Amino acid sequence: MELEQEMVYPKFTKDMKKTHTILIPSMLPIHFKLIEGVIKSEGFKAEIMQNQGPEVVEEGLKYVHNDACYPALLVIGQFIDNLNHRDDTHNVVLLITQSGGGCRASNYIHLLRKALIKAGYEYIPVISFNISNLEKDSAFQLTRGLILKLAAALVYGEQMMYLYNKVRSYEKNKGDAMKVVEKWQQILIKQLERGKGVLYWAQKKNLKAIADDFDKIEIIPTAKPKVGVVGEIYIKYASLGNNDLENLLIDEGAEVYVPGLFGYVLYCLYNILYDDVYYGGVSKKAKRLCKLVIWYVDKLEGIIIKSIKRTKYTPMQKFKHTKDLSEGILDHGVKMGEGWLLTAEMMELIETGYKNIVCAQPFGCLPNHICGKGVIRKIKAQFPEANISPIDYDPSATRVNQENRIKLMLSIARENLDENIKL
Ligand code: SF4
Repeated sequence: MELEQEMVYPKFTKDMKKTHTILIPSMLPIHFKLIEGVIKSEGFKAEIMQNQGPEVVEEGLKYVHNDACYPALLVIGQFIDNLNHRDDTHNVVLLITQSGGGCRASNYIHLLRKALIKAGYEYIPVISFNISNLEKDSAFQLTRGLILKLAAALVYGEQMMYLYNKVRSYEKNKGDAMKVVEKWQQILIKQLERGKGVLYWAQKKNLKAIADDFDKIEIIPTAKPKVGVVGEIYIKYASLGNNDLENLLIDEGAEVYVPGLFGYVLYCLYNILYDDVYYGGVSKKAKRLCKLVIWYVDKLEGIIIKSIKRTKYTPMQKFKHTKDLSEGILDHGVKMGEGWLLTAEMMELIETGYKNIVCAQPFGCLPNHICGKGVIRKIKAQFPEANISPIDYDPSATRVNQENRIKLMLSIARENLDENIKL
């Protein structure tokens, strides 16, 4: 039998570090600006892609089979569209995440490489960003220094995203909350470049100062419908994927809460421990390391919450409480896609007063249709006051259709509005 010849893909080598720009898909604007700064501080050139619009979807549809899930189509479409608009495509390298889990996110990299060949960009190297030891032979490695800086960027991103959404819903002068975000992005990038702001105590000090700056912003406290957003990770956060959902909700007069990325990180870590309970086979060393990281992330969550308690705004809940909320509805063994996290976050939202929920579902995403849309009836049976609207996002779903469904959810929210103001 003839053996199939293995494809050899271009690699990102050490000498490309100074000449090639790493292109990164956009997702969480506040976090990713800091992450871009961190990557640059390690001597790389980096750029978060900002191209949006129908061309991105068109390119995605051209090069990705249309039964692939929508986030894959958008991420790959954004890369190709970006390349199409560059003068020189010989000095770029593409960075894509590989979750390492059982879902399709682990395999986007292969779809991307196939798309690059089809589009005539087969010479462009692709970097896999993962913590599962996949695709190891690249000059972009997760060193200890880089991991610590990325973790710090994540902490600051979590706190600023939370406070930004809280404050901008009530700010007296439109744009004040964004000014604080931009001010601190500049300060933090400079600190991280010099290796500062990374240690626990330094983070604590920065978080306090950031929280105080947000607290000083003048607001007009008003009773507003509180809306939470859950869903598949990309569609939940990326404005490209959800047609600028957060801004739409704010413009419609709602206060928005989008649970942060820490939840997803902790969900992945807890899954390692649950896997051991269900199937065994996780080594003692892996379990110890996993528990240690969970402990540390929990401590970081603690300082974020403590910093927010200094302000007039109510902080988020700790994940160690949230994770148990899905019990009785969806088992912790359900972990494809966002799995039990999606259910747990909906429960957290209801518990914290965000009874109006948008559950953002991408086309072609079976796991999240089960763990999101599939559990709504059961949640509503327990909490009849929950006003949950599953919204589908796909290349053919019209924006008007999505907006009409969101507006219908908001009209129910306004009817049930609690006049007591709780910031
Ligand atoms: S969770 Fe859904 S959208 Fe994400 S990779 Fe899996 S199938 Fe695709």
